[in-house]
Amino acid sequence: MRNPDLLFRPSLADPDELLRTLRSREEWFRAVFEGSAMGIGVVDMDGRFIEANAAFLRMTGYPLDELRGMAFTTLNHPDDNARNVPLFRQLVEGKLSHYQMEKRYRCRNGSVLPVRLTTSVVRDSEGRPRFCIAMVEDITERRQAEAERLALEERLRHSALHDPLTGLPNRVLLGERLARAAERPCAPCAVLFLDLDRFKVINDSLGHVEGDELLRVVALRLRGCVRPEDTVGRFGGDEFVILLEGAGRDEAVRTAERILDALAVPLDLHGYETFTTACIGIVLSDGSGGPPEHLLRDADMAMYSAKAAGLGQYAVFDRSMHAAALERLQLETDLRHALQRKEFRLHYQPIVSLTMGRIAALEALARWEHPQRGPVPPDRFIPVMEDTGLILPLGSWVLSEAMRQLAEWRARLPAAETLEVSVNVSPRQLRAPGLVEEIDRLLRANGLPPRSLKLELTESSMLEDPAASSALLHRLKAKEVHLYLDDFGTGYSSLSYLHQLPLNAIKIDRSFIRGLDEGAAGRQGDGEIVRTIVGLARSLGVPVVAEGVESEEQLATLRTLGCDYAQGYLFSPPVDADAARELLRANPRW
Ligand code: C2E
Ligand code: CA
Ligand code: CA
Repeated sequence: MRNPDLLFRPSLADPDELLRTLRSREEWFRAVFEGSAMGIGVVDMDGRFIEANAAFLRMTGYPLDELRGMAFTTLNHPDDNARNVPLFRQLVEGKLSHYQMEKRYRCRNGSVLPVRLTTSVVRDSEGRPRFCIAMVEDITERRQAEAERLALEERLRHSALHDPLTGLPNRVLLGERLARAAERPCAPCAVLFLDLDRFKVINDSLGHVEGDELLRVVALRLRGCVRPEDTVGRFGGDEFVILLEGAGRDEAVRTAERILDALAVPLDLHGYETFTTACIGIVLSDGSGGPPEHLLRDADMAMYSAKAAGLGQYAVFDRSMHAAALERLQLETDLRHALQRKEFRLHYQPIVSLTMGRIAALEALARWEHPQRGPVPPDRFIPVMEDTGLILPLGSWVLSEAMRQLAEWRARLPAAETLEVSVNVSPRQLRAPGLVEEIDRLLRANGLPPRSLKLELTESSMLEDPAASSALLHRLKAKEVHLYLDDFGTGYSSLSYLHQLPLNAIKIDRSFIRGLDEGAAGRQGDGEIVRTIVGLARSLGVPVVAEGVESEEQLATLRTLGCDYAQGYLFSPPVDADAARELLRANPRW
């Protein structure tokens, strides 16, 4: 220290004593100065170093003799002087007594050291500024911790906003981007809502690992179909949402077509070559600023209407879809009431044995008389009930009513002693627990032999979960309940798969029977298909039922092909219970 007299003012009279005291005090202060863990630097009022302690020299890497005379601005990282110099000037001018800042030193070896600095000015007894003391703390660790915290926050934010499987923006981030796009005035945008077709089938048959892999591949392909600035997000499950900012109708449609093409390219899932299709709903926003939920809702609605058109379709939203969706909602509500209000009836259609030439069984078909709209065809209400789960109570009712009715006819009508009833069972019913037990109970309650009941199942319902449904079908077979494969030829028709199922009969879909008429509007080669199916069924030892037989000509052809049973308007349309009783009583022959 050059001016120890500034620091203390001993008032002792004895000069020796004074000297000793001064020495010991100086040593004491020097020990404090040198021992401080904080770096301490002293600069003159021109900003040049005159003194520094060990910690300061350690931090900066300069020996004291090199540091002396050096301007603090030379030690600073050049980018920090713009902030530091004005503060120092204010200190010199007496406008500040001290200041604090975080800045960086450029150390002697070229490395950069982040520090926190407190600089204060020391004045003499007249109040003139004499020199400045800079207390310096190395904040490398704090900076590092800060950086780590920020990185962690960033990671957390990323994972809160992205789907872990595909890395795509998730529902939350999609919502934010949509809201932003929707708020931007006069800027058009398009939203594509994409839902994979048959994903559940792939997931259940190949496994979840492959299902996940498929979703990742789809995510990559979707990204490859759009511009970098577009958003592709995973909405959940097998649903994706794509936001095309600035896109009009043409571009949105072109993108949808590109996506459908990209998805159609086969991919290898751990050794299984598979391909996927999807349906896409498109909604266009003209920038007039509707709420973003409406965009999603409308795109979703358009997607449903694309699904209704088949696999691998797209549809652009229009207002009429709203009406259709509202109507469907109304239908759902009405269907819930219909069950409570007992608005359902069963109609019966004969299944004729072509060898015996008489009615062998009746197919029970559900009928709904809507109190205002009148009769609603099952093709309209069964799918809605299937989607909503209402099919379960309806299915139970159909089973119990058909069996009650059958028992009554078998008991009362001599010609119906061995009559059987055929009941349609939907995929959802097949998946629900307790079906075997329910049938068991109903058979016993009605005193019916198990083989008097046929269950009609479609291929798709068995394919949804082949292993589980195969087990269930074998349990039913063990109970001697007969199983019919309904609508054969319209589904996936994996003929190879047929022989694994315990089937008692195959019902050929009526669309093939139509073509049996010479010169009919049927497809070319339908006769050939029917011939093949009958032959195949023969080889499996399974009888064939032809559905939708309307003409004598069709009947004659079916007879020559060796078809076992037939059903259709030629014999009788489905009729109510009273008419069915009359039919059984008349016991007609064909
Ligand atoms: P499905 O099982 O294929 O039933 C046969 C359908 O063909 C019936 O239509 C019947 O009226 C019609 N049909 C019968 N003969 C002819 C014919 O000669 N020509 C033509 N063009 N059609 C004929 P419906 O009663 O409208 O039933 C439609 C579908 O609704 C049924 O198809 C079945 O899949 C479903 N369904 C009906 N009742 C039930 C039920 O109780 N439960 C379940 N799960 N589905 C049902
Ligand atoms: Ca049927
Ligand atoms: Ca059918």
